[in-house]
This record gives sequence, structure tokens and C-alpha cells, in this order.
Amino acid sequence: MASPLPSPKTTATQRDPLAALEELCFIHTMRSVAGRLRQALILAVLAMASACAVVPGTGRMQLNIISPAEEQRLGRQGFAAIRQQMPVSQDENATAMVQRVGQRIADVADLPKAEWEFVLFQNPEPNAFCLPGGKVGVHTGMLPITQDDAGLATVIAHEVAHAVAHHGAERMSEQILLEGIAVALFTGLADLDNETRIILFAAYGIGTTLGRVLPHSRLQETEADRIGLIYMARAGYDPAEAVAFWERFAEYKKQQGGAKPPAFLSTHPMDAQRIENLKRWLPRAKLQYRPR
Ligand SMILES: [Zn+2]
Repeated sequence: MASPLPSPKTTATQRDPLAALEELCFIHTMRSVAGRLRQALILAVLAMASACAVVPGTGRMQLNIISPAEEQRLGRQGFAAIRQQMPVSQDENATAMVQRVGQRIADVADLPKAEWEFVLFQNPEPNAFCLPGGKVGVHTGMLPITQDDAGLATVIAHEVAHAVAHHGAERMSEQILLEGIAVALFTGLADLDNETRIILFAAYGIGTTLGRVLPHSRLQETEADRIGLIYMARAGYDPAEAVAFWERFAEYKKQQGGAKPPAFLSTHPMDAQRIENLKRWLPRAKLQYRPR
């Protein structure tokens, strides 16, 4: 008789590397990790724990080892580089719209030391971004989808929310510390047994490619949607227009078919959940909506 297949369930002796990495901001996890790793790794985790910050608007604890001044400097440099590579739109009306809507979002955004700039770039690919420190760029290719001020406010508020929540710095911090952990593993492995070594490498591999990076970017998307919705309402744009924009965007995605998605689509995965969330948050955002 054939023996039964081994249970896929985690046994008591197996560690769950994914769960360990996901909880790195918490001291209790540090204890369980610390028992197995070398001193260099413990120091890296300690550095991580001491670099947890609170996201304004949602209260989420996040990892951030990049100082606001450094972040601002990176944003300034990045924006200057983009301006050198991409032509600025000559469309005065559209440029005025981007600056008008952008300034209204900036006025209500929780980014105190921002050096705001709003630039409309001549580029057919629908995209928009806000670099740290308030450097906002919108592609002309985004305007047919945003359609009007409220649609544009949806996009700019979402991008500004990413900057307010220091999402770029958070991702960068994760990469730096994950690299640091990798180095620690490589340098501290000499006297670890083979089995432990394999488990640790698996933890690092899963943690970097699946456990941390991908779900986290969805988390950041959700956070930017939630903060952005409040900002557009405070700036005097009907937050219900955010739902309309994302529905138009979903339609645009459908029309794209199997074509390679533009940058905005690949960084803003469209799912029903996004629109569901926005609808759920709408009543709260409406409380802050003062039409102008
Ligand atoms: Zn986003």
C-alpha cells in the first residue's frame, strides 16, 4: 500500500521565513530571529527596529532609515534629471490646469518642508508621479483619462500621498537593510550547519522576492488611495470622482489588451478591491469635502 503523502502543513520544527520577515518592525520577532543569526544580522535588525516611523494619515508603523533631508535631496536630483530627459508640454491651458490642481492638493498635504513643483511633461504614456519633497510630474498622456480637474486631482492627490507617506524612502530602506542582511548572512555563515544555512537563504530569497516587496507595494497603493481621497476632498474636489477615475482607468487597461502595460499601470495594479476600498472610504472623505 502506498504511504500517504506528507502533509503540506508547517510542522513544529519548520520556521516560517515569510512571517518572520513580515514582522520585522516588532521587537518580539527580533527575539525569535536573534536566536539563530550572527551578531551582524542582529545589529541590522536592531537598526531596522529603531528606524520605524509612523505614516501620517494612517498611523501605520513603517521602516525608514532615510532622513527627510536626504529624501528631499534625492527628489530634487531625480526631478532635475527627468526634466533634462523629457520635454515639458507647451500646452498653456493644460499646464495651468496641472499647476492649479496641484497647488490645491499641496495646500492640504502634510508635507511641511516641500519645495513644490508641478510640471506637465509631453509624453503620450499615461503616467504621473510625485518625487520626495513635492516634485510632481504629469504626462500629457494621462489627461485623456483624468478628463477634468477632479480626475486630475485624484491622480495628483494619490501621488502626493505616496510622498507624504515616504513610500519611496520605505522601499529604499527595505532594500538597503535586506542587502545588509544578505551580507551578514554571507559573512557570518562559516560555522552554521548546512541545514540552517539553507533555511536562511530560503528566508532571504522568499522574503525579498515575494514576502516583502510585492505585497508591500500593494499596501502602499492602498495607503496612497486612502490618504489621497482625503486630500482631494479637503482641496474641494468631490471624492466620488476618484471612483469614476479608477473605473475609467480600469476601462483603459481593458482596452490595452495584452499590450505591454505602461509604467502607471504596472505600478498601479488595477483590481476590483481598489474601487471597493474607495467606495467604502467615501462617506468619511465626504465629511471633509467643501466644494469651492
Ligand atoms: Zn500609487
